[in-house]
Amino acid sequence: MNESPPRKKLAVLGFPVSHSRSPVMQTAALADLGMTPEWSYEAIEVEPEEFAGKVAEMAAGEFVGANITVPHKEAALRIADSAGRAAEEIGAANTLVFEEGSVRAENTDGPGVLDSLPDDLPRNRALVLGAGGAARAAVWALAGDGFAVEVWNRTPARALTLTDELGGTVVERPQASDYDLIINASTAGLGDSDALASLPVGSGDFREGQMVVDLVYGAGPSSLLEVAAEDGARAVDGLEILVRQGARSFEIWTGREPSLEVMRTAARSD
Ligand code: NAP
Repeated sequence: MNESPPRKKLAVLGFPVSHSRSPVMQTAALADLGMTPEWSYEAIEVEPEEFAGKVAEMAAGEFVGANITVPHKEAALRIADSAGRAAEEIGAANTLVFEEGSVRAENTDGPGVLDSLPDDLPRNRALVLGAGGAARAAVWALAGDGFAVEVWNRTPARALTLTDELGGTVVERPQASDYDLIINASTAGLGDSDALASLPVGSGDFREGQMVVDLVYGAGPSSLLEVAAEDGARAVDGLEILVRQGARSFEIWTGREPSLEVMRTAARSD
């Protein structure tokens, strides 16, 4: 009698999580490499008070790893038995790996941002908008890649805490054209809100030769990226960053390199 091979399960944990593009994107990458149905990827909604228990149950069962999204990224690092340098220094994990019942924390958000930058982009000055978890990952990655990083945040005191811990300086009135790279890592622009109404940059401020990344992704192109592109800047959207961080998580769990094109197409499908 043929025994079926052990299941290798993956998931994204969040609250809420139904909006996540990770299941369709990661499942497409697994299928493309012929790894389904042995491997699978699902979305699991878990409330904060149940997070630690759920992770322990998954680590003891058929799960190989998980992506972690809002609001569990800091908790994921806290409950892990060990952590990679990026997760440790950023202070949050977006990827967990389960190995013989123990839990290892990794962070691919920062490295994913770096993967999206073209080689010919000058690594001089970068501006990060926001001071939450995504901004921490971006500042950590950019500082490590040689950028002089400046951080603007709606609440300046929080930007100061971030730069004290991770490097960079706080800027209160940034001049967008001064920077080689601008990353919106705030939630401005989420849902129906217009990012340009609450960020210190706008139409006419950008220039050719610079790159603008908006980590926020929604149904269509963001108003920030639209005006940046009109001014001649290169625009990269949040779905591309989702693909890049997801590809790194995929490699950590499986040891295989997924197709970025397959992941992009799936992430952008309806
Ligand atoms: P977070 O920790 O809650 O931080 C939110 C940040 O946004 C804070 O700096 C906050 O400023 C700022 N903010 C909130 N409302 C604002 C407004 N109206 N105007 C200006 N700033 C505002 O969130 P996070 O985890 O860092 O996530 C930030 C965004 O990045 C989310 O939209 C998330 O989905 C996205 N993200 C995308 C990817 C990807 O793969 N594409 C990965 C990670 C995160 P205050 O300090 O003043 O409150």
